[in-house]
Amino acid sequence: MIVVLKPHVTDEQVATIVKMVEELDYHAHVIHGVERTVVACVGEERGEHQLGHLESLAFVDRVMPVLRSFKLAAREVRPEGSRIKVDGVEIGGNRLAIIAGPCAVESREQVEAAAAGVKQGGAHLLRGGAFKPRTSPYAFQGMEDEGLRLLEAAGRKVGLPVVTEIMDPHDIDLVVEHADMLQVGARNAQNFSLLRRLGRIRKPVLLKRGMSTKLEEFLMAAEYILSEGNPNVVLCERGIRTFETATRNTLDLNAVPLLKEWTHLPVLVDPSHGTGIWSLVTPMALASVAAGADGLLIEVHPNPSAARSDGPQQLKPERFADLMKSLAPVAEALGRSL
Ligand code: PEP
Ligand code: MN
Repeated sequence: MIVVLKPHVTDEQVATIVKMVEELDYHAHVIHGVERTVVACVGEERGEHQLGHLESLAFVDRVMPVLRSFKLAAREVRPEGSRIKVDGVEIGGNRLAIIAGPCAVESREQVEAAAAGVKQGGAHLLRGGAFKPRTSPYAFQGMEDEGLRLLEAAGRKVGLPVVTEIMDPHDIDLVVEHADMLQVGARNAQNFSLLRRLGRIRKPVLLKRGMSTKLEEFLMAAEYILSEGNPNVVLCERGIRTFETATRNTLDLNAVPLLKEWTHLPVLVDPSHGTGIWSLVTPMALASVAAGADGLLIEVHPNPSAARSDGPQQLKPERFADLMKSLAPVAEALGRSL
């Protein structure tokens, strides 16, 4: 259930509602929207009628049920959409958020060249994996601690906040120290203990869709993070497994407008993993933005043919710059900026 408060409520009135909701054995999550404050009440559905009585309070506008299984992620809670700040860069606003960088951090030279290239092309955030979830235990697993330090330094040098993947809950403190946003990869999209732990930090989380995760399951994964108290969650569609083998994954662009209907969380698209083929990245990036994505995640490597992971899908910096140029008129046609 959500309790929608009347405009201009005082802090005391919010505190009163929170206390009353908690006395009814519900968890109260206060969400300050642009115009309204909403209190999302999470708990067992029986007893919801008691929450309905709160409507009699003068500063309560209405009490309404959230019919979907995800409660805090539901659009109704924040109809205007969430804007998530990553060290000053906003995701979910009018401006598209572009995250770019190599699949993995491989060396100081490599990550610095990638950082300089994506900065020049117009990216807003730098990505790079230090802990890599590889299908084979014999494949390059990432530079770990050293990779985190190199990524952070490369981001600082060009003035971009950094995003990197977290695989193990034990590494959260370490990764939080070096990164501005923590990515949960497709393979961990339903690692509930990891998601819960990420709910107890405040840094933004980039949650990627699992390769066979339904949209409702995807939002329930986001709900794990939100319900522990971290409101800073950004979703990323990165392709799903289908019978088609011509591409690495099938980029599910239906997900974008549907997620935008169902949730207030920003939605990004990763056409690099979604296709697995560099020549498809730009057309699918344009299609993603046309479908309503709030931004993109693009893999960019200074020398893709020498990449230690995901070489075939990574763009050279010049090609990334071309992608950004082609994106500008599409963004403009949709009333969004780059
Ligand atoms: C990545 O972003 O490099 C990655 C491993 O992506 P995914 O988890 O979507 O496969
Ligand atoms: Mn990759």
